Amino acid sequence: MSQSQTAIEQLSGRPLTILSEDEQMFRASVREFAEGELRPRVEKMDAEGELRQRVEQMDEHQKLDPALIKQCFDLGLMGIETPEEYGGAGGTFFQAILAVEELSRVDASVGVFVDVQNTLVNNAFFRWGTPEQKEKYLTALASEKVGAYALSEPSSGSDAFAMQTRAVDKGDHYVINGRKLWITNGIEAEIFVLFANANPEAGYRGITAFIVEKSFPGFSVGKKENKLGIRASSTVELILEDCKVPKENVLGEAGKGYKISIETLNEGRIGIGAQMIGIASGALECALRYTGERQQFGKAINQFQGVQFQLAEMATDLEAARLLVYNSARLKDAGINFVKEAAMAKLYSSRVAERVTSKAIELYGGYGYVKDYPVEKYWRDSKIGAIYEGTSNMQLQTIAKLIIGK
Ligand SMILES: Cc1cc2nc3c(=O)[nH]c(=O)nc-3n(C[C@H](O)[C@H](O)[C@H](O)COP(=O)(O)OP(=O)(O)OC[C@H]3O[C@@H](n4cnc5c(N)ncnc54)[C@H](O)[C@@H]3O)c2cc1C
Repeated sequence: MSQSQTAIEQLSGRPLTILSEDEQMFRASVREFAEGELRPRVEKMDAEGELRQRVEQMDEHQKLDPALIKQCFDLGLMGIETPEEYGGAGGTFFQAILAVEELSRVDASVGVFVDVQNTLVNNAFFRWGTPEQKEKYLTALASEKVGAYALSEPSSGSDAFAMQTRAVDKGDHYVINGRKLWITNGIEAEIFVLFANANPEAGYRGITAFIVEKSFPGFSVGKKENKLGIRASSTVELILEDCKVPKENVLGEAGKGYKISIETLNEGRIGIGAQMIGIASGALECALRYTGERQQFGKAINQFQGVQFQLAEMATDLEAARLLVYNSARLKDAGINFVKEAAMAKLYSSRVAERVTSKAIELYGGYGYVKDYPVEKYWRDSKIGAIYEGTSNMQLQTIAKLIIGK
């Protein structure tokens, strides 16, 4: 029996949202961490603070608490799927999705911090790393080093292959020049999967993936963005000025960067779907609690059918989004094509997150509009789901291509 056949056999008959014993234990441990360690820090990490441009000047606001980063490593959350031989937890992609959902239920910034490491960076190494690269980088990424994924540039977002960053072959090394923009985890990261065009005449077939270390000469971190949501997650510019990258740090083959970027993002967007259902479930829980406590006209507002129906709509939206996300993750683990399902999951769950969080604000009334209560943050955090790892229009384009045919 093939590997995917075995995986299907194991899953068949099991409803999508029913977790195996391992999955239940794993989710419970992430929830314990999120409730015990993360929740008390969320407000401070999101807070305004003075906008700082450079990491060394940053205060404790708009920044991940370093203690949490260490705990993420200690709990095995930074190498969930990484094989045990590289010091990882040897888990499944579905477990990574559960972790991102659980963390985002409390704070979507920590959700995306763990998501980028697992679904983009580690994933790129599993798929395309040489045995030496896996040994060196997967081990570091599972135990102490944060990774980032650098594709976007100031003038190339949706049209990512129009990148201007150039790599020139100098024999035993490449010299890279250019700028990357919007790079998540850029402040904390030491290892970057970075895309540059090494043969512009060949168009997108010149794009190559490089492993760039923060310490490489010519590499620096530029401006940090001041954002609407996921404010504790760092989003930065990267500057490459004659950055020298050894030849052995090409990831996959030279000229295959376009394939690496498409395929890692296909998987990554299931992680963004997980972030979105985490946000929606956090907001829904708040709304359920608050509407049971808030009294108007002599009774709890959840006694009004108008409010009950809104809560029911929110729960139904969330359930539908969760099914899409879980199904694409389970397809991926079973080795079955999941590209259309992943695009649908991201598209739909980001819309659900925006709808559910917005409705939660309304159910809190005026209290929903102020920072003393948690729901306005969920709403701010939800907006990014329609933008990164392919905008909603890009997801629609992928889905349309796959249902209409080329
Ligand atoms: C907080 C944050 C974190 C990020 N993290 C990362 C990261 O870690 N690594 C990384 O590489 N990038 C990252 N990004 C970049 C992100 O992936 C891009 O912002 C995104 O792909 C959109 O690109 P753009 O901003 O250039 O918008 P554009 O591509 O300019 O799009 C603008 C609008 O035009 C629409 N549009 C564009 N082309 C078409 C078309 N052909 N058909 C229909 N509509 C179209 C889009 O849907 C969108 O509505 C991040 C961005 C943010 C804001």
